Amino acid sequence: MTIMDASTLKSKKIIVFDLDGTIVRLAADWHSLRKALNDRYREKFKEESQFKNMSSLLSDIVARGDEEELKHNFSIIQKYELENITKNEPIKEVIYFINNKELFGVNSEVKFAIFSLNTRATIIKSLQIAGVVNKFEFCVGREDLRAWKPEPEGLLKIRDRFQVLNKDMIYFGDLKKDLLTGANAGVETYIIDDLINFVRKVRKN
Ligand SMILES: [Mg+2]
Repeated sequence: MTIMDASTLKSKKIIVFDLDGTIVRLAADWHSLRKALNDRYREKFKEESQFKNMSSLLSDIVARGDEEELKHNFSIIQKYELENITKNEPIKEVIYFINNKELFGVNSEVKFAIFSLNTRATIIKSLQIAGVVNKFEFCVGREDLRAWKPEPEGLLKIRDRFQVLNKDMIYFGDLKKDLLTGANAGVETYIIDDLINFVRKVRKN
């Protein structure tokens, strides 16, 4: 893979970030959240619930066509995510990049967007706490999707919203799944550590 530097960013029009592990580190109690969703599933469908993660549980509800139950699940997720929101840790290099994009070869016309599987309220609140909410034009969160990462829907929604080409976009996330999502969307994608290292290098010089 190529090294991420100013030349990578130069031609981009839209920079998309994941949220958790990328811009901030959320402090939600994921274990209790998964338990709450699994308890709810058993109670609602009277069936054993053996999902390896939240997305597969939610996909099952999507496949059932139960939109109302899906929304109820989103509200449970939002509640757990927001509970510890003030304990969020912003990732300082990424916040610096967002606040000073021109220092990194990014055109001043470039727009920032979020594609995260956290709920929209969590995204907005986290960006507010980090003091960068006004830097973002568009956010795609869990409720906006019916197919989750590594499905490419979120990135394609952002592309369509800004009416740009895939090659005009770049995506940053913290997981292999994010890289896979980018590959599935045909959007150049990097692990956030690459951007963090680039920020450190620029700031040192
Ligand atoms: Mg993440």
